[in-house]
Amino acid sequence: MSFKTFKGGIHPGYFKSATEGKPTVPARPPSLVVIPMAQHIGAPCEPLVAAGDEVKMGQKIGDSKGFVSAPVHSSVSGKVVKIDSCNHPLGRPVQAVYIESDGQDTWHGDVQPRPDYEKLTAEEIKKIIREAGIVGMGGATFPTHVKLSPPPEKKIEYVLVNAAECEPYLTADHRAMLERPEDIVTGLRLVMKAVNAPRGFIGIEDNKPDAILAMTKAVAGDSSIVVATLHTKYPQGAEKQLIKVCTGREVPSGGLPMDVGCVVQNVGTCIAISDAVRFGKPLIERIVTITGSGIMEPKNMLVRVGTMITEVVEQCGGFRPNIRKLILGGPMMGLAQPGPDLPVIKGTSGILCLTDAEVELDEIRPCVKCAKCVDVCPVSIMPLFIGGSVEHGMYDKAEEFNAMDCIECGCCTYICPAKRPLVQWIRMAKGDIAARRRK
Ligand code: SF4
Ligand code: SF4
Repeated sequence: MSFKTFKGGIHPGYFKSATEGKPTVPARPPSLVVIPMAQHIGAPCEPLVAAGDEVKMGQKIGDSKGFVSAPVHSSVSGKVVKIDSCNHPLGRPVQAVYIESDGQDTWHGDVQPRPDYEKLTAEEIKKIIREAGIVGMGGATFPTHVKLSPPPEKKIEYVLVNAAECEPYLTADHRAMLERPEDIVTGLRLVMKAVNAPRGFIGIEDNKPDAILAMTKAVAGDSSIVVATLHTKYPQGAEKQLIKVCTGREVPSGGLPMDVGCVVQNVGTCIAISDAVRFGKPLIERIVTITGSGIMEPKNMLVRVGTMITEVVEQCGGFRPNIRKLILGGPMMGLAQPGPDLPVIKGTSGILCLTDAEVELDEIRPCVKCAKCVDVCPVSIMPLFIGGSVEHGMYDKAEEFNAMDCIECGCCTYICPAKRPLVQWIRMAKGDIAARRRK
């Protein structure tokens, strides 16, 4: 079924051809994993283990009493060598558990299949998802059990799977749809049961016809789930845009998908839910796209959480000498890193290695009032005014211009002929506004 598009957005180059046709390959089991205690939005975990402890694969090694949080698990069996800080994609060091693998991959006793999983209640499904440490794997890393626990007055009617993968370069979700379509549908059905939603959508951009075919086959005979063919446009996979296109409903300013009866889940998250509920497996691995012209052999790899990026890069033949920029995630919403000395975490969808040819280093120039940033903004705010306010330190003005409605898609920065770092400025404004509101 074809659907209309949303207002604004851009058409950046796809740059997916290097990996979209490559099946996912398992990464070499790591000899050491570094598991950060903060891999999600919300309260960081406290370690449940100490140096010298023996651990099993899938064992919970960190947890928090906070509701908005998600436990973390060991992705190997072996020995805890230390609790120390490690680099994190968000730029500040976080506490982490360092585990040396014994090479045996012995599963923890709690990891058991549930052949009768279809009899589980909604509450039991949510509890399993929480205990498995599942978070939004598209990059947002919001704890999934929290998303699935709206207040009683918010009736959920639709669960939408964001299968758009609209970020250039990334192909992890595309490969997952070709390789594990039934598991994605199982995960979606479990989420529908958990929130008591009668309808499901799987939204896929029309530049992935093979994925549309695979998912259509996987839902055949189930009239409660619709595979929605979406126009290829960035940011098609943003929650509010996906909801608008699939259901016609508009999430209000400052509102959440649950306010219009919707819950959105990522493709990888659905697979993680299926694995947790059916097989008792916590979230300890994920598909990562390693690509860009700065890497020798672009690949899609199944990587254990806690594997060092350096090790993953080495299994792709290493960096090319002219690499200029390393980004975790896609080029639009990913996070640029000073180097590869950090671990893969639950939200690492891509390792993007860009060269001089792919990185623009133009100087920031004054705004020429062309309004292109306004035209492409999918949430209809005024990036030029918010950016201008931040440039002059006027954060309260940025709030008046609805900076908090920005979904940080980066369309304005992409289109700006004056190369103004609009989304970066808006992120700063949002941080300042949020801090003031907390006070
Ligand atoms: S202001 Fe925010 S939402 Fe609008 S285009 Fe820029 S980054 Fe996207
Ligand atoms: S796109 Fe850039 S130059 Fe044009 S109005 Fe927006 S900020 Fe100004």
